[in-house]
Order: sequence, then C-alpha cells, then structure tokens
Amino acid sequence: MNKKIISENFNLSNYTTIKVGGIAEYFAEPRSIYEFFNLIKWSKSKNQTCQIIGAGSNLLINNIFIKGLVICTKKMKSFTIEPYSGVVEAEAGVMLPTLSNSLAKKGLQGGEWAIGIPGTLGGAIYMNAGTRDVSIAKNLISVKVINNKTLETLEIEKKDINFEYRFSSFQSNNLAIISAKLNFEPNSNIEKLIKTTKNNLKLKTETQPYHLPTFGSVFKNPKNHYAAKLIEDMGLKGFKIGGAEISTMHANFIINNSSASSKDIFELITVIQQKVLQKKGIYLQPEVRMIGFDYPN
Ligand SMILES: Cc1cc2nc3c(=O)[nH]c(=O)nc-3n(C[C@H](O)[C@H](O)[C@H](O)COP(=O)(O)OP(=O)(O)OC[C@H]3O[C@@H](n4cnc5c(N)ncnc54)[C@H](O)[C@@H]3O)c2cc1C
Repeated sequence: MNKKIISENFNLSNYTTIKVGGIAEYFAEPRSIYEFFNLIKWSKSKNQTCQIIGAGSNLLINNIFIKGLVICTKKMKSFTIEPYSGVVEAEAGVMLPTLSNSLAKKGLQGGEWAIGIPGTLGGAIYMNAGTRDVSIAKNLISVKVINNKTLETLEIEKKDINFEYRFSSFQSNNLAIISAKLNFEPNSNIEKLIKTTKNNLKLKTETQPYHLPTFGSVFKNPKNHYAAKLIEDMGLKGFKIGGAEISTMHANFIINNSSASSKDIFELITVIQQKVLQKKGIYLQPEVRMIGFDYPN
C-alpha cells in the first residue's frame, strides 16, 4: 500500500455538511477503484475497522478519536452516460447534483429530483435517498461492491438488494459500494428537463435551510406522519442546545450555528425524541447515520 495517500490523525469536521466530526486515526481519499480496493485491503491486513463515507451529508460523527481507517469516496467521480440507451455507469463518489445536471443536458429523464441532494451516489444507494415520490432504487440496474471481510469484488443486481424507505440492505452488511449502473429514459425535450431540474433545486432552497450546515432530515417520517410536523407541534422550532438549533424554516433540520459540538447535536436529537414520544407516543427514528456513538444505527 502506498502510505502517502493515508493521513494520520485527520480532522473529519470538514468532511461532513454539518461541520462537526472527530479525529480519524487514518484517513484517505482514493482517486480510483484500484486505490479504494488497496485501502480496504490494507486496513484488513492491519485488522482495523474501515468506515466508508461519501459527502458526509447524512452523517453525525462524534468529536472523539475514531480508531481505524476512514475512506472518503468523493474523489472517485468518473461516470459515463450513454444517451441512446439511457445507461449510466458511475463511481461511488459522483455527486447527485452533478449526475442530475448531466442527465438533463444529455436528454435523459428520471434524475431531475436528485439535484437537491448534496450526497454521493454511493451514499445515496446506501441510504436509498430520494424525495416523497421517488428514490434512487428506481433507476438502479446493479451495484459493484467490495466485501470488506473477504475482499471479494462482486456485482449485485437490483433484485437482490432490499430497498425500503431510506433503507437498503447495505446498511446491514459489510459491503463497500464501488460503482453502480443505472438506467434513465431518453427524452428529446432537453429544455424541459433542464427547467424541471432547476425548479426542483429552487423548491429545495425555498423550503429547507439548504445553504446552512445541516445533515438534511434528522428523522425518518413515521408511518402516516411527518417528522417535521410532529416537531413543530411540540413548539420546538428554533429550540437550541449549545450551538445546535432546530431550524425555524423546516423543523426536521438541525443547524450548526458555527459553534455546535457533536454532543450538542446528539442531545438535541435525544430531546426531540423524548418530547415527541411523551406527547404523541411516537418514536422518531433518526435518518442520519452516526459514527462514534453508542447508538444502534
Ligand atoms: C441540505 C440537505 C438536503 C438533503 N436532502 C435530502 C433529500 O431530499 N432526500 C434524501 O434522501 N436525503 C437528503 N439529504 C441527506 C443526504 O444528502 C443523503 O442521504 C445522501 O444520499 C447521503 O450521501 P453521502 O454521500 O453524503 O453519504 P454520507 O453521509 O457520507 O454517508 C451516509 C451513509 O452511507 C454510507 N456510505 C457512503 N458511501 C458509501 C459507500 N461507497 N459504500 C458503503 N457505504 C457508504 C456511510 O457509511 C454512511 O453510513 C440531504 C442532506 C442535506 C445536507
């Protein structure tokens, strides 16, 4: 392993969109699938834990020392779009807004919704990211992965992956997502595709604190309820713990007002859960993934 690409004692706070994070014992940003594979192999040979992150847009990382290797995929960003067949092959680190814009410009329909999700394709597949009506699973054909334990590389077809609302079976196995194949519908009305994509982003920025440090929706919507409405009904909009605040624009967002610690954010999550459980009898399950907390992810 070329040790030059591995940093030691690396501060992760700039690698999450909410701008908090701990210190990774080892950290690397591979630029290719080859480097990605070798990093996982290196960490296995050292018997270390290995955690993969994308754009950190759905992550709360505790402000502690994180043992082992953290790999960020953001630099694995190659992709090809075949406009006639609609088939796309993309590495895990491709950002959804980049993909969404490129699809529209190439005359492919079906990715317009993804413009407002500031995450990587790998993170989106892991989370089954989406909107109310559609999620990334819809356009997926297959996913290439590395098994962190056996180092085997395999391609899994969509039918063999369990996708539910903000859930994929990758949340319960040891597979690192390398790349994916997707399928979109050719549509010659490029102008309309670009317009819809732009409008979707506009809608996001008008209804969510999109440009502030957050990690998107904190909680999943419980069946037949909206998490934001439940939190708003508790009168919690604007409620703060330290530098962490419940957004006044959208109650299912927590904002880091520049000085929040991961502890402030975690406590705020717990307070919301307690209040909603006490008053409404509903347990809010976090959508956000956590690293370095004793929390069942
Ligand atoms: C302003 C804002 C708006 C958002 N809006 C939406 C929305 O509308 N809909 C929605 O669904 N989400 C939304 N999100 C949340 C987030 O953007 C998505 O969940 C996104 O898909 C996460 O991707 P990521 O690359 O940032 O993943 P990360 O946050 O880096 O990681 C999320 C999880 O995926 C795992 N992971 C990441 N990459 C890999 C990989 N290659 N292999 C294996 N595991 C991996 C990580 O270990 C972690 O557990 C929003 C976030 C923000 C900040």
